[in-house]
Amino acid sequence: MSLLLLTHRACLGHSNGEGHPESPDRLRAVLAALEAEDFAGLIRDEAPQATEAQLARVHPPAYVSALLAIRPGPGEPLMLDGDTGMSEGSAEAALRAAGAGIAAVDAVCSGDVTRAFCAVRPPGHHAEPRRPMGFCLFSNVAVAARHAQAAHGVARVAVVDFDVHHGNGTQAAFEADASLFLASSHQSPCYPGTGDDSETGVGNIFNATLPPGADGAAFRAVWAERLLPELEAFAPGLIIVSAGFDAHARDPLAQLRVREADYDWLTRQICGIADRHCAGRVVSMLEGGYDLEALAASTAVHVRALMLG
Ligand SMILES: [Zn+2]
Repeated sequence: MSLLLLTHRACLGHSNGEGHPESPDRLRAVLAALEAEDFAGLIRDEAPQATEAQLARVHPPAYVSALLAIRPGPGEPLMLDGDTGMSEGSAEAALRAAGAGIAAVDAVCSGDVTRAFCAVRPPGHHAEPRRPMGFCLFSNVAVAARHAQAAHGVARVAVVDFDVHHGNGTQAAFEADASLFLASSHQSPCYPGTGDDSETGVGNIFNATLPPGADGAAFRAVWAERLLPELEAFAPGLIIVSAGFDAHARDPLAQLRVREADYDWLTRQICGIADRHCAGRVVSMLEGGYDLEALAASTAVHVRALMLG
């Protein structure tokens, strides 16, 4: 199975400030893990910058231009809300993160590769069309989904989000359009407080909440019994994964007890559905994950499953 790894050093240049959990060290840990011999077969490329027109498929042009006009100098970042910052390198990092998704979609939809993983930051799934939020500036997966539709004629695009936090930004971008699909498992109560099971969009949004302390068996159960059957029924032309690894037992920001083997299992299930409906095409994008050791190990398991699954 050919797998493309997209990243860019500019994604290390974005800072939310000293001591912030969403740090450049996260991406360093992921990239170091993907240097192991197991990953010698990865096809590696640099992420391009998304264009303003590509971002405008999700975000109003005034939002894009206003965000990119924020150009802090060196030093401490400018905080856009209580936990989302922009530093000197953030604009390019955000454009590369969204651009990675665009390039990944181009690669899998043209048949150059079957799957792609985007090792990028800032993450994207909390960014709503009109506001940055929760460490996120642009909605990377929603921009990638819209690109698949607009540039490649993919009729139905599904996003699968197993980050421990609800993908409120993806839901906001998708909830009125039945050609898009979101399945999300997340801890509740937890940030950002949305994602109740009753939030269903136009019948295209599927939220599954897990209580603090839920383990890998509970995590697998909501996917096996509720979310994956809906994904299968949607018959996607492309699957995009919001791959956050902060449901891991070691993660400091939430209280679930998911382990590497659970991420391996879920990734293989997703690949199986992709094989049945869309020639195996999966684009996965890094979201959260704040324990560096757990993040590196979980990402390695996920990427290996994308290569083999
Ligand atoms: Zn998260």
